[in-house]
Amino acid sequence: MSLIPFNDRDGFIWFNGKLVPWREAQIHVLSHGLHYASVVFEGQRAYNGEIFKLKEHTARLFNSARILDFEIPYTEDEINAACNEVMKANNLPDGYCRPVAWRGPEQMGVAAQATKTHVAIAGWEWPSYFDPQLRDKGIRLDMAEWHRPAPNCAPTAAKASGLYMICTLSKHAAERRGYNDALMLDYRNQVAEATGANVFFVQDGKLHTPVPDCFLDGITRRTVVGLAKKRGIEIVERAIQPDEMAGFEQCFLTGTAAEVTAVGEIGPYNFTVGEITKTLRSDYEQLVRGNR
Ligand code: PMP
Repeated sequence: MSLIPFNDRDGFIWFNGKLVPWREAQIHVLSHGLHYASVVFEGQRAYNGEIFKLKEHTARLFNSARILDFEIPYTEDEINAACNEVMKANNLPDGYCRPVAWRGPEQMGVAAQATKTHVAIAGWEWPSYFDPQLRDKGIRLDMAEWHRPAPNCAPTAAKASGLYMICTLSKHAAERRGYNDALMLDYRNQVAEATGANVFFVQDGKLHTPVPDCFLDGITRRTVVGLAKKRGIEIVERAIQPDEMAGFEQCFLTGTAAEVTAVGEIGPYNFTVGEITKTLRSDYEQLVRGNR
């Protein structure tokens, strides 16, 4: 990824209803979202000029805002059109699109009923989330120290910024130790997900993946479940205990940014990049590139 700072680029950002020059898309430091994490966002990818599952992403954005008790002052159709406009204006037939909605500076303090919802949409190139050289061996995951919270301890069904505090901390700790990412357990000590992607395992020709009852049921996760069913691969959604990883043969992550990423190692457990992983990775690549 380019190291040009994200505030100092050419191009256009959709900002509260219209495209503005990239560097002018600024907010006030007393925005409620900045202080109290009243922020929701999406991450979606365009392939060959089309944003994959755009409507699902926009629906999730609106649902995330509702979970955080604020309304987005546009229709879903308007946000869909704005996302397409952003990718076009920045000449990104293949790229990453980031809508974000937050409570503004109209009221400061924990209560925020008088704030307005602000919305911005940016787009940029994001070729590969993990180093493509790890495609054949798989990435290495550390075991995170932070656990995903219970659904009555945080709004876990929302794609809300506040939930990413522990993801950033976990990813930093993992990278410091030479890993690519971290696997997080949940509040019950069951396997949950990586810091920005869902996790699947393969054992005896079947897929095993945790029930998404305290973390995001990713759009890529649901897509890959559909692809696996099409291939006649059985999917077992269930609680997974960490020590079960010793018996799993393959592992991969799914996410909009990560796509289908093979995992070679999680802490003490090793996996091979086997046929099911390769098949679903390739099926996903075909699907998103228009072979729908
Ligand atoms: N979990 C987390 C924490 C994520 O950030 C993401 C990426 N949005 C996912 C799972 C996967 O979601 P999706 O497939 O919808 O991108």
